[in-house]
Formats: sequence, structure tokens, C-alpha cells
Amino acid sequence: MRVHWHRRDLRVADDRALSRAAADGPVVPVFVFDRNVLAHGSPPRVAFMLDALASLRDRYRERGSDLIVRRGDPREVLPALATEHGADGVTWARDYSGLARERDAAVRRALDDADIAREAVRDTLHHGPGSITTADGDPYRTFTYFGRKWLDREKESPYDPPSADDLADVSGDPLPTLTDLGFDAPDAEVPPADPDRARERLDAFTDGAIYRYDERRDYPTDDCTSRLSPHLKWGTVGVRAVYAATEDAAAAAETDADRESVEEFQRQLAWREFYAHVLFYNPETVTENYKAYENPIEWRDDPAALRAWKDGETGYPVVDAGMRQLREEGWMHNRVRMIVASFLTKDLLIDWREGYDWFRERLVDHDAANDAGGWQWAASTGTDAQPYFRIFNPTTQGERFDPDGEYVRAYVPELADATAGQIHDWPDLSLADRERIAPDYPAPIVDHAERRETALAMFEAARGE
Ligand SMILES: Cc1cc2nc3c(=O)[nH]c(=O)nc-3n(C[C@H](O)[C@H](O)[C@H](O)COP(=O)(O)OP(=O)(O)OC[C@H]3O[C@@H](n4cnc5c(N)ncnc54)[C@H](O)[C@@H]3O)c2cc1C
Repeated sequence: MRVHWHRRDLRVADDRALSRAAADGPVVPVFVFDRNVLAHGSPPRVAFMLDALASLRDRYRERGSDLIVRRGDPREVLPALATEHGADGVTWARDYSGLARERDAAVRRALDDADIAREAVRDTLHHGPGSITTADGDPYRTFTYFGRKWLDREKESPYDPPSADDLADVSGDPLPTLTDLGFDAPDAEVPPADPDRARERLDAFTDGAIYRYDERRDYPTDDCTSRLSPHLKWGTVGVRAVYAATEDAAAAAETDADRESVEEFQRQLAWREFYAHVLFYNPETVTENYKAYENPIEWRDDPAALRAWKDGETGYPVVDAGMRQLREEGWMHNRVRMIVASFLTKDLLIDWREGYDWFRERLVDHDAANDAGGWQWAASTGTDAQPYFRIFNPTTQGERFDPDGEYVRAYVPELADATAGQIHDWPDLSLADRERIAPDYPAPIVDHAERRETALAMFEAARGE
């Protein structure tokens, strides 16, 4: 008998750790609401997680078992549960962030003290830390070679879900509500977490949009990215299942361009694993710059500008559309994440950590490794980051990736009647024109050209120049 402790693997199919547990089963499946972890939660993420847990419980019930739900400290809950059910071991899927590793080390000690076997199994990554290194055995600091090796490595096939025989005959407990856990309802409309829906997304994407991915993934209205990020974050889809679907798409590709497009998507999956490795070796990078500058970067303390950025009221239409998409959907398109992150750090000159905290609060897919990786990339403080002198111009980014202004109009109703030209020219329009076109939409809160120069000076001072 094995206890399987679900954490970020909220599914039964293609769960490598659960399959390992089933080999020594029957399995007693459990989820623990841990106060220390919930302290880092936020309404959209916890709402998605609760929905995923409801689906997980249903999958177990369909198989004659159930999901045991406990609130408390896993150091106490897990040894007690294992003893109660006569289980000789506990398994879980490895998690790579600093906080998770501290928690897991404490749980390991508690289980050792109770003389209960335990096994942490790689599941959320194809290739765990230590498996893709330089010739000297060091972790890669830049993506290119890591990505190449990652793509060349063989990948495991998906694991089957456990059958009824693999599972213990247990009865579960009711799930708490968001309110029980002390969270307000999210502002965002949180997408369904059911693994069947994740599978539908994956199938639809690998049947069609994946072939346009290479060419069109930067265009936010094209809807040709997978939107699997919340599922990859919460494990409502398995990484092997995702990869296998991409391989099927590659096999079905009719042209070289189609095959390259599939590979470009696979490369993004490799970025996800690269950032997981970076965080594993540098757990402090969720709060500290990865890259050392000679002097501290003199970020500005500007609460009014930060508020305008969070509210989508900066007067830069594509930035505001992105921030409002985040509020409404708990998700934002990757290109727009890059634009708003660059705007916060290089136009408003505000510390990337403020942006990271807001994304952590609002994103359903917030993932410490990817979020810190993305922010530090944009802020030019990360590994393999955007060079400090390459500063996005929010106007030309909008012109290039939202040429018709369709994305802006979808999220900024004040500009619903504005033409594409008026949207792109907004920061340069006269006061009278702005009043006439969209009286309720703000004027730009900063001058990009001016701020660009200030940002360059700020980074040059940090470099000691
Ligand atoms: C400032 C900033 C913050 C970010 N924060 C997060 C975050 O908290 N969680 C998160 O999952 N991603 C984050 N990203 C990366 C990326 O924006 C999202 O993964 C992507 O937009 C999710 O949409 P999708 O699933 O449609 O992506 P797709 O383009 O379909 O990509 C498929 C998957 O690959 C992974 N992926 C794609 N791009 C990246 C990338 N640049 N870095 C790492 N992994 C990637 C994701 O798991 C994604 O779901 C951030 C990027 C930036 C610039």
C-alpha cells in the first residue's frame, strides 16, 4: 500500500509518480491544504486548483476509490495517514522551487523519523536538473545549447492512468471552497481545469494552430498558442502526453515549414525546463537578480505609475490591453507579457519584482521558474536576458504585432471606436484629438523617448560606466 501525495500533478493520466506508486499499490491518493503554501496563493490560482481537485476526485471515484483531503502540515498529515492506512511508503512528484524543496526536505525527515519509506519522482520535467549539462557537468547559463540537447534527447511515452485494481478502497472528504480557504472570488474568469478540457485544447492545437505557431505566435489576436500554461503549471496535463501529441503533429506535417513550426513549439517546452533548471540551481532568483551588476540598479519608487500599470491606465494602448487581459482572464499572451514587462522596467523604471508580485497575484499559470525567468529576461537582470540597451518601443510593438488594433479594442473599450492609426498614434496625438476620439482613455503617463534615455543611463550607472 502506498500513499500518493498530489501537489502540482492534479491528474491520473500520464502521472509518472502516481504510476510508480501504483507499482507498489494499492494507492491511497491524498491532497493536503498546507497553510504555508496557501499563504503564497491567490484567488485565480486557488480557484483553478480547486476545480482541478474536483476533477481529480471524480476520476478516482469513477475507479471505485476517492481523494483524501486534509488541511494541515504535511509533516504531520502524511505519516499519520500512512499509519492509519497501513501504507509502507509515500510517493510524490518532485517540485523544483526553493520553497517546495524546503517543504519536501522537512516531510522527508518526518517520514524517516516514522520509519516510512518515501520516494520523490521526476514528473513535471522530461529531463531533470543535472541531466542536461555542459561537458564539465555544469548547468547551462544560456538556452541555446541546453535547448539543442533537450530537443535531441529521447522522451518517455505517456503513462497510463491507474486502474481500479491499483487504487485503495477509501472514501474521501469534501473539498473546501475558496471562502473556506480565506480567498475572495477572483476578478478573472478562470478557465476550466478539467484534464479532459486540457486534452481537448492539446488535440485542437496539435491538429491545427501548431503549424502556424512559428509564424504567428507573436500575434495576440491570432490565438495560435496552445494556452496550455495553466495545465502545465498545475499538472492537469502530463508533459509526456503533450510531447507525444507534438510528435504526432510532426509526423503528420506536410511541409518542412510545418515541421519547423512544431519544433518551434517544442523549443518553448524546452524553455520551460531550462527555467526550471535555472531556478533549481539558483533558488534565490525569485527575489534576487541573476546577473550581477557593478552597482545596484536605481529603480524608482513610483506608486502612482505602478498603480496605472496594474490598472491598465498608462495611455499606451497595447500595454493597457495586456494588463486588462490579465485582470479579465488570469492569462496574458507571451508577446504582450514581454511588452508590459519591458514597459514597467524600462519606461516606468520600476523594479521587476513589483511586476513579478503582480503577475503572481493575477496569473492562473504563475510558475516561479517561468515568471522569474520572464521578468528577469525583460529587466535585463536574468540569465540569457534581453540586453539592457535593447528597449522595446511600446508603440512600434503594437504596430507590428497588433497592426489592426484588434487586440487593443478587445480589451480597452474606451478605444473601441478608434481606428488602428489612432490607437498606434495615441501617445503622439494632440490633447484635442485625444479628447475627441476617446475622452475616457488616459494620456500617456510617460514619454517613451525620454524614458528610454533615462533607462540607458540607469543601466550604465549600474554597470559602473
Ligand atoms: C514577464 C513574463 C512572465 C511570465 N510568467 C510566466 C508564468 O508565470 N508561467 C508560465 O507558464 N509562463 C510564463 N511566461 C512565459 C510565457 O509567456 C507563457 O508560458 C505563455 O504565454 C503561456 O501561453 P501558452 O500556454 O499559450 O504558451 P505556448 O506558446 O503555447 O507555449 C507552450 C508552453 O511552453 C512554455 N513556455 C512558452 N513560452 C515560454 C517562455 N518564454 N518561458 C518559459 N516557458 C514557456 C509554457 O509552459 C507554455 O504553456 C512569462 C513570460 C514573461 C515575458
